[in-house]
Amino acid sequence: MKHLFLIIIFKISILALYAQSDKLPLQYYLPDIKYNTQIPTPEQYLGFQIGQWHVTHDQLAGYFKVLDAASDRVELVEYGKTHENRPLLLAIISSPEHLKNKEKIKKQHEDLLFSGESPKDKMPAVGWQGYTIHGNEPSGNNAALLVAYYLAAGQSKEVNEVLDNMVILMDPCLNPDGVQRFSTWVNSHKSVHLVSDPVSREFSEVWPGGRFNHYWFDMNRDWLLLTQPESRGRVKLMHEWHPDVLTDHHEMGTNSTFFFQPGIPTGNNPNTPVENFKMTEEIGKFHAKALDSIGSLYYTKYNFDDFYYGKGSTYPDAIGAIGILFEQASSRGHLQESINGPLSFPFTIKNQVVTSLSTQKATVSLKSGLLKYKSEFQKNVLSKIDRESVKAYIFTDNDDLKMHKFIDLLLQHHIEVY
Ligand SMILES: [Zn+2]
Repeated sequence: MKHLFLIIIFKISILALYAQSDKLPLQYYLPDIKYNTQIPTPEQYLGFQIGQWHVTHDQLAGYFKVLDAASDRVELVEYGKTHENRPLLLAIISSPEHLKNKEKIKKQHEDLLFSGESPKDKMPAVGWQGYTIHGNEPSGNNAALLVAYYLAAGQSKEVNEVLDNMVILMDPCLNPDGVQRFSTWVNSHKSVHLVSDPVSREFSEVWPGGRFNHYWFDMNRDWLLLTQPESRGRVKLMHEWHPDVLTDHHEMGTNSTFFFQPGIPTGNNPNTPVENFKMTEEIGKFHAKALDSIGSLYYTKYNFDDFYYGKGSTYPDAIGAIGILFEQASSRGHLQESINGPLSFPFTIKNQVVTSLSTQKATVSLKSGLLKYKSEFQKNVLSKIDRESVKAYIFTDNDDLKMHKFIDLLLQHHIEVY
């Protein structure tokens, strides 16, 4: 009887732990450093701490506008509109000096990739951090607000090193329409005392769910076909900036842990240079160390491939960058039972924050190797083409419109057409 009583007390305390009113401190997610008080925290802007509710896209966009206005380290660019008229945003984050010189930096990276020039002294690397292309994989876009705040307000040697050595192109929400649909669902089915039973309505969105964009396209298959405005806008930017590293933050099944590339070796695209996979592995050591430091479980080189260039983490491999996929086990809503115990939304966000920061640390530490990889990329690709029997393709069609559409697609990928 006494035993049963203790179990009941224990269960009640677990429930209390996850009551809605609980608010985790900022230090749960971010390094405990000094922050510029002139820059509003996500909580000050939203009126709740990250992880308590799912941020809607309009809240996310509002916070990035605030950062743009308050910080000289952040510049916000709108690169398009979704079908539902939501802005597609890219936050360019770096030191104020680099932001002033961003056209020069773009040119330096273009020269590095196409003329094979050696990297310039003090040239910053370009890192692209993209979150939640599948709208119902919410830890990514919720983490983006914290990572942006850390870079905009952080006062530490580590933050300065990142800002001095990198231009970060942060796409805080790759699928605004899907995120709006999903966040509305989970927020409206949240209970005052969180319900973690996997059959709860909170975890079972009605069709079509938040994964897709307005027209139910899976945009993580659209990076080659470019049928959607979201994909067209970001591929244009990618060819403008030529990033060195691109990360793509996703979620997977609730009973899993955390995955980062390299993926399963048999799923590597043979057209991607081997050095790319080696570099991915080097970067992976930084993620492993960071996740070890907070006691999070993870795995690598298993089940996720790096083959189809129409995916966000593989497309960059075809244009001289290193693309990296992250997959976090999904709480889907606010708290869900899993085979590893209760999986809370804040915990999933924390893992995405930690690996965002380890990506930055890796990029700064491996900068010279990454820039060298980029400067040799074209030479390596051309020598590979020399060994191919097919040198070019000739194509024609009776349908002028089809020809026009096809040529337009090739040109968007900067493929030469004559
Ligand atoms: Zn996904």
